[in-house]
Amino acid sequence: MIVFDHVRKDYGKVNVIKDLNFHVKNGEKVTIIGPSGSGKSTVLRILMTLTDISDGVIWVDGEPLWHERRGDNLVPAGERHLRQMRTQMGMVFQHFNLFPHMSVLRNLTEAPRVVLGLSRREAHERAEELLEMVGLQEHAKKFPGQLSGGQQQRVGIARALAMRPRIMLFDEPTSALDPEIVEEVLTVIRQLAHEHDLTMLMVTHEMRFASEISDRVCFFDDGNICEEGPPEKIFNNPEEERTRQFLSAVL
Ligand code: ATP
Ligand code: MG
Repeated sequence: MIVFDHVRKDYGKVNVIKDLNFHVKNGEKVTIIGPSGSGKSTVLRILMTLTDISDGVIWVDGEPLWHERRGDNLVPAGERHLRQMRTQMGMVFQHFNLFPHMSVLRNLTEAPRVVLGLSRREAHERAEELLEMVGLQEHAKKFPGQLSGGQQQRVGIARALAMRPRIMLFDEPTSALDPEIVEEVLTVIRQLAHEHDLTMLMVTHEMRFASEISDRVCFFDDGNICEEGPPEKIFNNPEEERTRQFLSAVL
């Protein structure tokens, strides 16, 4: 289980996450929606340990994420602890963030070899399986620049999965794609959503998709959760006026 316990995040003097209390159960599929600048990406970046927190504690299966235990106290986490915690998580970005100078295959094998210490052969086998899963086995030798956006994003998903994470974070994975290729990426994510053990946290503007795959939808506004619930409730019968306004603008 992931627990945000009174988490605050400031960038300089700007407070972007405000006293956030938020839980995600193991295997749960949760979608975050909300207006631009409300802190959706920040929540994912904090979990991926790409940016730190200003106050509060985050727990991942009872282990503090941004802290380490010292006796009965929690102290700021060292790089080693962060690296170890990070291996449980995979992240897929809006703009793919592939390594442009590496082949597709090497994009998938690099971290498993360097971080997990897999042998070349093990890493290759794992990569080939994943490329087949995302339908790109023919493209292993290409470089990211030789692929379409949808193909690059499927590589991005495969690369994250190559670390065998228990938690997958998706930050607007289809927002940079042309409408006609959004579906090929959603198909891959849909397939992952059927894996019971995988915890998924996704920011998206694909409301129909969100309602199809999510156990829960969280509407973020101004650095905190304004309203959350099952997709049918949030999309069809929201309680908060702010949620209604947002949905009527985007649906
Ligand atoms: P969008 O829908 O546009 O992606 P978001 O909900 O993902 O928005 P965040 O990217 O989490 O929003 O940003 C929340 C706030 O934090 C914004 O006001 C943003 O300007 C600010 N912010 C984000 N990253 C940084 C940074 N590295 N330095 C300073 N401010 C930042
Ligand atoms: Mg964002």
